[in-house]
Amino acid sequence: MSPFPSLSLTDPPNPKLAQGADGVDGGVASCSTLDPADWRAYRDLAHRALDRVFDYQQGVRQEPAWRPVPDDLESEYRTPAPAGPQGIESAYRDFERLVMPYPTGNAHPRFWGWVPGQGTPGGIIAELLAGGLNAVSGQFNDGPARVHDQVIDWLREAMGFPAGSTGILTSGGSVANLVGIAVGRDARAGFDAVSTGLASSPALRLYASDQVHSSVVKAAQLLGIGRSGVVMIPVDDQYQMRTDALVRAIREDREAGNQPFAVVGNAGSVNTGATDDLEALADIAADEGLWFHVDGAFGAIAALSPELEPLLRGMERADSLAFDLHKWTSVPYDVGCVLVRDADAHRHSFAVAATYLEALDRGTAARTDPTVGRGLQLSRGFRALKVWMSIKEHGMSRFGDVAAKCVRQAKSFARRVENHEDLELMAPAPMCIACFRYAPADLDESVLDDINREILMRLQEQGIAVPSSTRLDGRFALRVANTNHRSRDEDFEILATETVRLGRQVSADYSSADCS
Ligand SMILES: *Cc1c(COP(=O)(O)O)cnc(C)c1O
Repeated sequence: MSPFPSLSLTDPPNPKLAQGADGVDGGVASCSTLDPADWRAYRDLAHRALDRVFDYQQGVRQEPAWRPVPDDLESEYRTPAPAGPQGIESAYRDFERLVMPYPTGNAHPRFWGWVPGQGTPGGIIAELLAGGLNAVSGQFNDGPARVHDQVIDWLREAMGFPAGSTGILTSGGSVANLVGIAVGRDARAGFDAVSTGLASSPALRLYASDQVHSSVVKAAQLLGIGRSGVVMIPVDDQYQMRTDALVRAIREDREAGNQPFAVVGNAGSVNTGATDDLEALADIAADEGLWFHVDGAFGAIAALSPELEPLLRGMERADSLAFDLHKWTSVPYDVGCVLVRDADAHRHSFAVAATYLEALDRGTAARTDPTVGRGLQLSRGFRALKVWMSIKEHGMSRFGDVAAKCVRQAKSFARRVENHEDLELMAPAPMCIACFRYAPADLDESVLDDINREILMRLQEQGIAVPSSTRLDGRFALRVANTNHRSRDEDFEILATETVRLGRQVSADYSSADCS
């Protein structure tokens, strides 16, 4: 029997330890602690700050969608680090002056650039609580670790992955892609990449469509596969990977002595929102013995809507799936997730053996399957709390309803563009993304890129709306990604009307500049 029987939970706490060590309640600020002398003042400021951010989120529709930082403020962001204390009140005043008026704008109902999340009032509360608890989440025997694993299990089920799959919350889709592809490399390289590295291996090959997100290419670089190891397969007119070209590329690589190991499918590609034929990709990966990873950074969330779910058929067959919670579900930045079907493969790639991390039978270190063995981070913040609370607050189906609303709006915007003689839809809009441009019949193709680039900058500078851009077949396109739970139908009307108004203005400026 152990000479140290475990304490019963009813054992009284040591009264000496329950008091402040110095016996002073509140204490006096000293040079050797970061705690304040006056806790009351901090509480007051915290309440004001909370009101401030709630005012912002509640009133954001009245704000411009974006506002530039004035030139005369620039120097204020380049002052030397204060050597002595300036105090929390002064730091807060600087925040009010230098940060609060110039947000990215993604909370705004007409922010559709890149793939935005707006955040939620509930999310503010969860972030505050997570900050207050300041947990190192996932590693130890505590409530936060249980919350993390429960969130993973909820998401696993929502994405149709079988029980026994594992997963981890990450900073976002980029790291989720990196983790999924790392496990795939180690599972399917055909040699023990974890032990020996890639030094004497044949060239590894990963296949993705030419619409693949840059983070997948970056993952390949970091994993020793290199950019040249990412074989970009052309797409058809729906921006879906051509499966005949995929099969051919795999065969040619094998013949050349290269080592194919993974197929990466898009569930919602970043340019147009296209989803590859994931059933077909799953079949090909299975036939070829390749890892099947799906990048569903924003698109996977469509699985929460019965109306949209058929778009993603085959996604549940992935060996690993990466997706974000900070995009279409608007959980505050940053948080993404990767799910891995084969728990052993996941552990094989990330497990660590470190003497100072040994699990004990009881106490703080009594945690089976800590997150350090599932991803890149050891210390990590309590990202799981905002996801957990958000799912409890809204329920899974509310996220599905928001996604369905967004897709309806994007498609209806695409129809509006098609029906407008001065606007052109530049790609099919199968999900929440519409790519378009101002292209009246009297303008020559050669000026359209410049004119549309200028329209985009004016839309943003004038605070009207924030679409972003992309290139489709080399042509500049305005790109609207509607993962915005705040957008209303009238917001798209404003975008269409203002694009045409600015288009006329810009092309007039353009032709008068031409003549001068
Ligand atoms: C946003 C995005 C990523 C990267 O995710 P982050 O959360 O920004 O790291 C990867 N793939 C696609 C398709 C995306 O839209």
